[in-house]
Amino acid sequence: MKTFNTIIIGSGFGGQSAAINLIKKGNEDFVILERRDFMGGTWCQNTYPGAAVDVQSPLYSISHEPYDWSQMFANQAELNEYTEHVITKYNLRARTQNNCNVAKIEWHDDISRWHVHCEDGRVFEGQFVINASGPLSTPVIPNFKGRDTFKGKSFHTNDWDHSYDYKGKKVAIIGSGASAAQIIPEIAKDVGELHVFQRTPHWVMPRHDYKFKGWQRALLRNKYVYKLLRWSIYWGLETRILGFKYSKAGLYRLAQKPAKEHIKKQIADPVLREKVTPDYTIGCKRIILSDTLYPAYCRDNVHLHSKDDGIAEITETGINTTHGEKLDLDLIIYSTGYDATDGVISYPVIGRGEKKLADVWEDYPRAYLGTVIPDFPNLFIVTGPNTGIGHTSAIFIIEAQMNYIMEAIHRVRSIHARSVEISPEAEESYTNHIHSEMKKTVWEHGGCNSWYKSKSGKVIAMFPGFSWTYWLWTKNFRRADHRFR
Ligand SMILES: Cc1cc2nc3c(=O)[nH]c(=O)nc-3n(C[C@H](O)[C@H](O)[C@H](O)COP(=O)(O)OP(=O)(O)OC[C@H]3O[C@@H](n4cnc5c(N)ncnc54)[C@H](O)[C@@H]3O)c2cc1C
Repeated sequence: MKTFNTIIIGSGFGGQSAAINLIKKGNEDFVILERRDFMGGTWCQNTYPGAAVDVQSPLYSISHEPYDWSQMFANQAELNEYTEHVITKYNLRARTQNNCNVAKIEWHDDISRWHVHCEDGRVFEGQFVINASGPLSTPVIPNFKGRDTFKGKSFHTNDWDHSYDYKGKKVAIIGSGASAAQIIPEIAKDVGELHVFQRTPHWVMPRHDYKFKGWQRALLRNKYVYKLLRWSIYWGLETRILGFKYSKAGLYRLAQKPAKEHIKKQIADPVLREKVTPDYTIGCKRIILSDTLYPAYCRDNVHLHSKDDGIAEITETGINTTHGEKLDLDLIIYSTGYDATDGVISYPVIGRGEKKLADVWEDYPRAYLGTVIPDFPNLFIVTGPNTGIGHTSAIFIIEAQMNYIMEAIHRVRSIHARSVEISPEAEESYTNHIHSEMKKTVWEHGGCNSWYKSKSGKVIAMFPGFSWTYWLWTKNFRRADHRFR
């Protein structure tokens, strides 16, 4: 068994931020455990055609690690390069154990240490655990009737098989959310036929992407200019929460009107227009930014199947639709998303007194600041329940969480305590507040069913407010709400 002061699970931006913060605080006694044979998380794993970020790159990046972005919304290759740059700069590869799929973590109260078990039998001991296993890192494929019988090629968008040549092939993509919206325009021009199975349409807004000119890139190398751009993007995006939170007051119309115009401008066919027009309030599901999705739907080789023309069953040779059509297919792409709520931590977590996190979260996942849970001492969850954000950068929230996590660890160390734990009262009051605020949001009353909700029907994936409010909360460590041992 190897022993470290802190064990970080996951090597995406969450794990990297945790590691960098620990290094900056002089706490170098940590290890990163990563289940894959490479590091980097989301942008190293999601290599599907067209993969790109939906938040402007100067904001969707670590605040103290500016980069020479070539365009406003970086594509996967550039994000991968950026990730490599961060990992190399802080020498994180040397501190990482790859191929360690964490299978269980267990708190030992007698020694005040966590034992972290990897699937291959390796065990690590640590005083603190920072779980950064990612909100969207474990793909989900629904159990379609006959799924396993298909004899052609199939994969999830998260595991794109680049050895497979889709050119000229008959392809189906199941799902029409954010990843599908990037893949469809990219592959439509090369495949023979493309069948898109859409359960519910998404609202789509123009993307307004922009390639930086040489002189602009030169200007942005000045850290003050870069910061100015970053903060103007931040405050511009922050106003969007008004539409999500106060949509009942009619603010959603400010966004829904241009989204409707986007449909009219890009699609002439009234039947197709109707198929892509959602019947719920904008913002209830993730808004897609795309200038190329609707033109792709207009192509002769692309067929959009909506809910009333869905999948009856998957067969050996393709898909039978509920309209009785039998589609012969070479490839089925599952763009069916992730378990971002009930399954957000994919391994068993056993806390004080053998308490299981799965039992604590049986009704719905909950945590103080989306980060800490009573009876699970010294455990911090990055991008935990109700920390997701639809209107700005997830990295902003990750960095805010680091304020709180680093302060908690610092306090334990400075008073030579063994552990820190949130009080049940503080967690309960925080969770009640979050879900009472949530009632105001479009995610609760916008008339849609989205992956933001857990099986309980509660919205778990989103934070119901301004991201700066969350940031302020993480900066204010409330000593009285915590128990030190
Ligand atoms: C396709 C896609 C597009 C996205 N676009 C945006 C966007 O435009 N804007 C935005 O703000 N956010 C976006 N996100 C959300 C994205 O998840 C976050 O922005 C951010 O990358 C999360 O970083 P993370 O480190 O928490 O998680 P991840 O990047 O997912 O990293 C988690 C890491 O933990 C590892 N891991 C998981 N389980 C285990 C285990 N049991 N043992 C060991 N290692 C484990 C994984 O292999 C992975 O490397 C997107 C996500 C996806 C999937």
